[in-house]
Amino acid sequence: MDLFLDRDGVINDEVRDGYVLRPDMFHFSEGVLTAMPILARHFNRIIVVTNQRCIGRGLLTTAGLHEIHAQMLRTITAHGGRIDQIYFCPDTNNDSPCRKPAIGMGLQAQRDFPDILFHHATMVGNTLGDMQFGKNLGMQTVFIPSTQPETAFPHPLIDHRYQNLLQFALAIQ
Ligand SMILES: [Mg+2]
Repeated sequence: MDLFLDRDGVINDEVRDGYVLRPDMFHFSEGVLTAMPILARHFNRIIVVTNQRCIGRGLLTTAGLHEIHAQMLRTITAHGGRIDQIYFCPDTNNDSPCRKPAIGMGLQAQRDFPDILFHHATMVGNTLGDMQFGKNLGMQTVFIPSTQPETAFPHPLIDHRYQNLLQFALAIQ
């Protein structure tokens, strides 16, 4: 089984009305560094899919994003966790084929890992766009109410709801 994770609001705290533009602006959300090794034991692959329109807006370079992700990966690895691949969409327009809820980043993952079975995969995110992305690919969806706690549940796009990534990891371990 494979796991797809949104980044902002799932792995790290969202920056209110802004973006993570430097490594020192990246703060792991509560419990994530405990959750990642549990998820690493449970899932074959862990893949991050993240919309980063701050790049298209010229606020962050691709190199800058890689620097943030290199730090993120170092810390997760040091805690016994693992992320196998990261896909990002730099585009600003909502109808971009790579911007969630469009499935472009899922198709990229399928090209890199042709044995992915989306109907056995899970998408964890904190927006309905993430949930729609997962459902568009036939995945199970897990909603984290970090920034939109008012989102209705039960909801047709949401299969499970956990307070944070650690609660999800503890529930499935
Ligand atoms: Mg998010």
